[in-house]
Amino acid sequence: MQSNTENFDVVVIGGGPGGSTAATLLAMQNYRVLLLERDKFPRYQIGESLLPSTIHGICKILGLSEELKKAGFVRKLGGTFRWGTNPEPWTFAFSTASTISESSSYAYQVERSKFDTLLLMNAANNGVDVREQHSVKEVQFDNGRACGVEFVDADGNARQANAKYIVDASGNQSQVYKKVGERVYSKFFQNLALFGYYENGERFPPPRDGNIFCAAFNEGWFWYIPLSATLTSVGAVVAKEYAERLKLGHEEAMSQFIASCPEISRLLSKAHRVTEGIYGQLRIRKDYSYTNDRFWIPGLVLIGDAACFIDPVFSSGVHLATYAALLAARSINSVLADGMDENRCFEEFEKRYRREFRNFYEFLSAFYDMHHHEDSYFWKARKVLNSQETAQQAFVSLVAGVSNLQDEHLFVEPARIEKIKQELGKLDDPNAGSPYQFGEKKAFLDALVEEAAQIQTQASVGSRRASEEPIFEGGLIPSADGFRWREATASLAATK
Ligand SMILES: Cc1cc2nc3c(=O)[nH]c(=O)nc-3n(C[C@H](O)[C@H](O)[C@H](O)COP(=O)(O)OP(=O)(O)OC[C@H]3O[C@@H](n4cnc5c(N)ncnc54)[C@H](O)[C@@H]3O)c2cc1C
Repeated sequence: MQSNTENFDVVVIGGGPGGSTAATLLAMQNYRVLLLERDKFPRYQIGESLLPSTIHGICKILGLSEELKKAGFVRKLGGTFRWGTNPEPWTFAFSTASTISESSSYAYQVERSKFDTLLLMNAANNGVDVREQHSVKEVQFDNGRACGVEFVDADGNARQANAKYIVDASGNQSQVYKKVGERVYSKFFQNLALFGYYENGERFPPPRDGNIFCAAFNEGWFWYIPLSATLTSVGAVVAKEYAERLKLGHEEAMSQFIASCPEISRLLSKAHRVTEGIYGQLRIRKDYSYTNDRFWIPGLVLIGDAACFIDPVFSSGVHLATYAALLAARSINSVLADGMDENRCFEEFEKRYRREFRNFYEFLSAFYDMHHHEDSYFWKARKVLNSQETAQQAFVSLVAGVSNLQDEHLFVEPARIEKIKQELGKLDDPNAGSPYQFGEKKAFLDALVEEAAQIQTQASVGSRRASEEPIFEGGLIPSADGFRWREATASLAATK
């Protein structure tokens, strides 16, 4: 019979992108990780428009690049906006950012039920103990330090798990964040979103057909996200004073909002709303722009919507959740594997996470002022990032999520790995005089390929990392493989 209490290195609460990413990155470092997810996947979630940083940075480290290609998600090359004083829609392409290579200049529009399931299954494949329909009820403390969780399993049994660290990635609905600090709601972003799904909405001509389209109108703005050749996610984000309209019923309110936005009316003129299945209802979200006043306490760290979220206009939610997962996993690993000081590691986590959040927040506050031409939004992005790029390039770097990730050197070069594989593949050739029996060494080769690729990657990023500076005095920098923190001076010495 299974004991009522189990022991792990890390317990992760929630199997959204934040939780799956943190759990996988920790399991890759051989920690015993338990991930508890309340729902049965695939489950519905909003947040379908992703950024290049997530696809070519985090998902690549997670080993998901091929799976994502096979999944058939819509390719997003950038965004199209009817916004500001320009009456015509304007478009930005990720390929124009100096910080993004040509091969990484796209993201995907995803059905989150499918995308989140891929990430969760990948966590299980990497050794995470993933348990769906397991709901965390309480965090346990010992002398002020979080040390475990109480949860209810799929059969309704009360159980416990002890761990050295708890990662709370349970999204915006759960209450775990209260153990860490206070949730502070934005006074500026106080909108609500009403959204649904439509079949046969019109598409822009290529190459803009996979772009997110955001259109401002009198009451707020619309998102229009192509999820397949025929399915479109459509949402109205409106100021709180228009909440009154919802009393007319969601259907009527949505019809009125669409009618007052000419671009969306036109795109949907031959479309019909989906009324069955997971996309069958009009949904509402409000009070989603907030940040916790603390992101961690000893033993417990908040990531993703559990910690903060701003506003969907630049699709930053999944990016912030997965970037925070990387920072948190790096901090936990540095304490557990290298015995580094917990305060320093988590201070670094919180500072970098808040910097990324602040960049989006500050820029979005200016972007919501509609009385400007797009050029002035580009200049604002340059100012927020304090960047040397052109104003337009700074804007694209910011909204692609790579303005800070470029310091992180996440972009592993697949060509390098392929080259090593080819070299090692020669060993398998019976005519090449290999000392091994043909077929005998597959496991050995697999391990070697991985290790060699890792070293190659470290070597390639390590030399560039020499110029990396900490983001604050006394701060830490990422290690060459990205899985730990390092002293800035030690890293410089190591690369000489
Ligand atoms: C209107 C709107 C539009 C948005 N559009 C975009 C967009 O286009 N692009 C984008 O990137 N982001 C968007 N977002 C944000 C995005 O939805 C979130 O930022 C993202 O889903 C956060 O991921 P997460 O892993 O932190 O949490 P989630 O995806 O919410 O996952 C949390 C998981 O925790 C589980 N859970 C909760 N409580 C418990 C418990 N007690 N025990 C166990 N499990 C639990 C839940 O079942 C859930 O699966 C949007 C948000 C809103 C409100």
